[in-house]
Amino acid sequence: MNQTPLRKPSIAIIGAGMTGILLCIKLQKLGIEDVTILEKKDDLGGTWRENTYPGVACDIPAHMYTYSFEPNPEWSYRFARGNEIQTYFKKVSDKYQVTPKIRFGEAVVNCKYQDGKWNIKTSKNKSLMVDFVISATGILHHPAKPEIPGLSSFKGKCFHTAEWDHKVDLKGKRIGVIGTGSTAAQVIPEMIKIGGKVSVFQRTPQWIVNVPDKHYSEKDRAKWRKNPSITKRLHDWYTIAVEQTFSKAVIGKKLPHALMSFLCKRNLKNSIKDPVLRAKLTPNYRVGCKRVIVNSTFYEAIQKPNADLVTESIEKITAKGVVTKDGKLHELDVLILATGFHPFNFMRPMNLTGKNGVKIDQVWSKKIQAYRSMFIPGFPNFVLMLGPNTPIGNFSVIAMSEVQANYLMKIIQDWQLKKFDEIDATPDAFKNFNAYLKAGMGKTVWLGGCNSWYLDSDGDPAMWPYTWSQWEKEMKSPDYKDFAIKNL
Ligand code: NAP
Repeated sequence: MNQTPLRKPSIAIIGAGMTGILLCIKLQKLGIEDVTILEKKDDLGGTWRENTYPGVACDIPAHMYTYSFEPNPEWSYRFARGNEIQTYFKKVSDKYQVTPKIRFGEAVVNCKYQDGKWNIKTSKNKSLMVDFVISATGILHHPAKPEIPGLSSFKGKCFHTAEWDHKVDLKGKRIGVIGTGSTAAQVIPEMIKIGGKVSVFQRTPQWIVNVPDKHYSEKDRAKWRKNPSITKRLHDWYTIAVEQTFSKAVIGKKLPHALMSFLCKRNLKNSIKDPVLRAKLTPNYRVGCKRVIVNSTFYEAIQKPNADLVTESIEKITAKGVVTKDGKLHELDVLILATGFHPFNFMRPMNLTGKNGVKIDQVWSKKIQAYRSMFIPGFPNFVLMLGPNTPIGNFSVIAMSEVQANYLMKIIQDWQLKKFDEIDATPDAFKNFNAYLKAGMGKTVWLGGCNSWYLDSDGDPAMWPYTWSQWEKEMKSPDYKDFAIKNL
């Protein structure tokens, strides 16, 4: 029987982080070799290449924070340190022959759809023409620096946590940290260990759940190396545990939310003895409204004699340090900005131009949305990984990328079968999907009386408001009714 050979698309992936590596592996599995990964930096790893601050670790259990097909017996802690995660991604990238496909130090500057192809221009002034572009740039990769008057006049050293200056000697120094989010909670205990006086500038207190870390011995690792089914079981066990507790709590399921609230409140009460300090650290919004911090060191550290929790708001920064509204100057040698990221840039600042010259900045000028978090009408054959409204606030980002990648591979396979040349989400599907999301938001805790990076400029959470299993179910396969598909 004569079988038409499958077409082989050319594909550009933007970004060589966890998602870019995963996509390349999946595409190679389909026999697609014409894959180019354009990576703006000189190394792979995304978040884990960028964030090298002292204390950097993943607050999702390590055995869960792996690709499902590549368990890792080598983790040395329950919450893997940043450098171990970076090593893991490098190892996987080499093992699956992804590394040779990466063009390092080459950012995408322009990306334009023309005559059924995407034309790419890079920062090295090179051009590329491909059938599909997949943006795998991640979410939290544009550091947000606070607009505090006088910041640039500070004469000491000042840097953002994602741009850590390892040349700065912190020993015995007067260190200021602005911010008390997930990053700050990891970095502050390390600063308190090494620094002289450490001033922590807190604008809003955070809920913290204490899940103790655990060191894995060489004996544990030898056991896992010998029997990989144990690591697989650990992966599955942690996945179920997070899904049944944290993931359900944030979308407003009563019992898991009550449990999470109880654990956070008990942690605060049991950990902070001084009632004045405890009051300062007590949030006035629902548990989970901001990302719950998973941490077992912050509360102990903030009670050390060289730690100072400053809750008076910041008025300005001068050459000598931070001045708070009460007129007090907090003199500093080093100022660390643990002030988070701009979460709505996605693949930008690159210029993205879709059909009929439509620009992404126009389409997203009012609201940043996508169909199924992946497709934007008018931008055919352009796929956004981990776009707006994934379950990013509820689950492991690796599991999310795997679900999206599997969904996308079905589309690519249909393209290979020549079912279409061009695929574009319809404006109706886009509208209906976003209305469906909005309808689910009311019950979630993200609208629980706080401000957070989850919220867009209208105050809508850019999150998935339903269960993880619902998301997996809806992402099983594409519904072609929601797409305009065409043979050109
Ligand atoms: P974040 O959660 O956005 O926290 C930023 C902190 O900076 C907040 O405390 C914020 O205060 C404060 N801040 C911002 N601008 C300020 C200003 N002008 N003046 C005073 N304070 C200011 O950022 P993040 O800690 O980097 O974490 C971001 C996300 O990264 C997390 O939610 C998490 O999803 C992820 N993360 C994960 C891990 C992990 O282990 N997997 C580790 C780190 C980060 P307000 O609260 O008042 O806004």
